Amino acid sequence: MPKMRAAQVPYAKGPFELVERDIPDPGAGKVRVKVQACGVCHSDSVTKEGLFPNIEYPRVPGHEVIGTVDALGDGVAGWQLGQRIGVGWHGGNCGYCDACRRGDAFACETTTLVTGVTHDGGYADYMIAPASALAGVPDDLSAIEAAPLMCAGITTFNALRNSDARPGEVVAVLGIGGLGHLGVQFAAKLGFKTVAIARGADKAPLARQLGAHHYIDSEAEDPAAALQKLGGAKVILATATSGAAMSAVQGGLAVRGTLMIIGVPDRLDINPLPLILGSRSVKGWYSGTSIDSQQTLTFSALTGVRSMNEIYPFAKVAEAYDRMMSGRARFRVVLTMEG
Ligand SMILES: [Zn+2]
Ligand SMILES: [Zn+2]
Repeated sequence: MPKMRAAQVPYAKGPFELVERDIPDPGAGKVRVKVQACGVCHSDSVTKEGLFPNIEYPRVPGHEVIGTVDALGDGVAGWQLGQRIGVGWHGGNCGYCDACRRGDAFACETTTLVTGVTHDGGYADYMIAPASALAGVPDDLSAIEAAPLMCAGITTFNALRNSDARPGEVVAVLGIGGLGHLGVQFAAKLGFKTVAIARGADKAPLARQLGAHHYIDSEAEDPAAALQKLGGAKVILATATSGAAMSAVQGGLAVRGTLMIIGVPDRLDINPLPLILGSRSVKGWYSGTSIDSQQTLTFSALTGVRSMNEIYPFAKVAEAYDRMMSGRARFRVVLTMEG
């Protein structure tokens, strides 16, 4: 039986184990993916630290997967052997439940599949993925370039393109980290008057480099007042994980503006009066499904949006994970299977 390398978590909070496993065969409706690169995302801590109930261990994390179709299970249509594909957090959907038929495949009620959580993900030479989870990858994006776009990229791009903001309107991105450095690029390329908000004057050059038209140092000035000076934000994309930082920008929303939450703070205080008086809203945004991933990749290839990455060979998976969790990586961590 041919073997492959995999990095598995043996139990919640357990250490990564580099193991040899049999190369799996795809069942009906699934494909085997030969993994070329896999991003290391903060949400991998769901599996590593056991943050969701009922995770079955050992489990291989990884939901920013880029590779090629290596084998087709029975009944898979529309995908060819050797085709470049990506697999993200959305691990597939049934196609027949009420949510799927409504077009809300992200909320599929029958098969809550999450790559690297409910089934093994991309920290391995090969993985099995439902065909409904596959995104096509443009030729002009390398595997390493494309990997972080499968989660950090889609999350920011899909939130922005599904917001009410129109080109020319003010869109602010709170936080310039793993999500935010992509959010700023997408906002600028989507044609929004793009405002980056972070702490410290030292981040201003980076914000400009990413395409921001304005930078607000929230330590030096009140970010809400600064946004109002620019006319108020139609959307504030909150990528930070500080509830206090999110509360502090809320007053910068324009009338009918939306505070769009994609970072996860412990708690969030919202002042209800501006919501009522200005018909403003606070909403969350799921990342997206396979077609959203594919369009994120296409848009990025067309416009030059790229993640800034620190690259690790597969054998250094534990080091790569620690680096990501340290919060000091600039800005995404990617495992390459070539090492
Ligand atoms: Zn469904
Ligand atoms: Zn992720």
